[in-house]
Amino acid sequence: MKQVILREPKKFEILDSPKPVCGEKQALIRVRAVGICGSDIHAYYGKHPFISCPIVMGHEAAGEIVELGAGASGLAVGDRVVLRPQRVCGTCYQCASGHYNICGHLKVLGCQEAGASSEFYAADADLFYKIPDDADFKTGTLIEPLSVGVHAVKRGAPQGVEGKRVLVIGAGTIGNVTAQSARAMGAKDVIITDVSEFKLGLAKKCGLENAVNVAKTNLGEYMTEKFGPDGADVIFECTASEAGINQALDLARKGVVIVIVGVYGNKVNVNMANVQDREYSLVGTLMYLHEDYVDAIRMLGDKKVDLKTLITNEFPFEKSADAYAHIDANRDNVQKVILTV
Ligand SMILES: [Zn+2]
Ligand SMILES: [Zn+2]
Repeated sequence: MKQVILREPKKFEILDSPKPVCGEKQALIRVRAVGICGSDIHAYYGKHPFISCPIVMGHEAAGEIVELGAGASGLAVGDRVVLRPQRVCGTCYQCASGHYNICGHLKVLGCQEAGASSEFYAADADLFYKIPDDADFKTGTLIEPLSVGVHAVKRGAPQGVEGKRVLVIGAGTIGNVTAQSARAMGAKDVIITDVSEFKLGLAKKCGLENAVNVAKTNLGEYMTEKFGPDGADVIFECTASEAGINQALDLARKGVVIVIVGVYGNKVNVNMANVQDREYSLVGTLMYLHEDYVDAIRMLGDKKVDLKTLITNEFPFEKSADAYAHIDANRDNVQKVILTV
């Protein structure tokens, strides 16, 4: 089978690899679509702290089951599925307490172990989830990032986000799906910000009408106008930038939860005095749990979220080099790029 490997930064190779053997508790899929994620782009430049070359990327993957091991249950050959790319130890402190998304020995498939940039891919059957019948494979890959949003919302509002006013800083894919998750899970009002008119336009197309360009509009004033004097009840920082986190720390009312969703590549200078004095809670969030996938798939099936609009480009997976070069050259005018297999 064909398999695409990132041999070294900015250098892809197409391999002729053996088709994976389907293990006893595994499912083998014919891969149909793979999404390119921000972390893949960092890896492409050789700048991801936890991904090193050579690596077969592809953690946002959808396909069709072609073989099931004798010990795999709950799925059938022919099922259209999406991958939850987490290999966890099951025995560490976090795993034992149910927080396996932060397993001490976590391996993300496509990041620390081979991902699905290939014609066939095998993984434990309990890592595959059926995608809604009316969602195509390309849209199905976005269940992975949507689950990141669902988990982030639960981290920010463990008692439920119903009736709350939510500010999402950053309208990239993760910011967008975090805002859509909050709305689908019952938030009263959502504001999403960016400096890219293109990304804000996509957010509006997804029904997030309070999409604000912070290069042109004073966010504090806008928020007071939309949310009233008490502002946001919970804030999601999805830009991984110094400007983004400081905006959150400046604008949050006292006592608010600020969820750090963005993946920071660099250390940033933040005003910790505000965290102490205003009694903020800074909360991290990583990936998702099984139940977040279940919720994300239900939200997509019930049409509470629009994922298809986020797909701006597609390339055959053999043309991965072209796909990444396109992203490189069009930073502000691409959202989700899908590799078709
Ligand atoms: Zn991702
Ligand atoms: Zn563990």
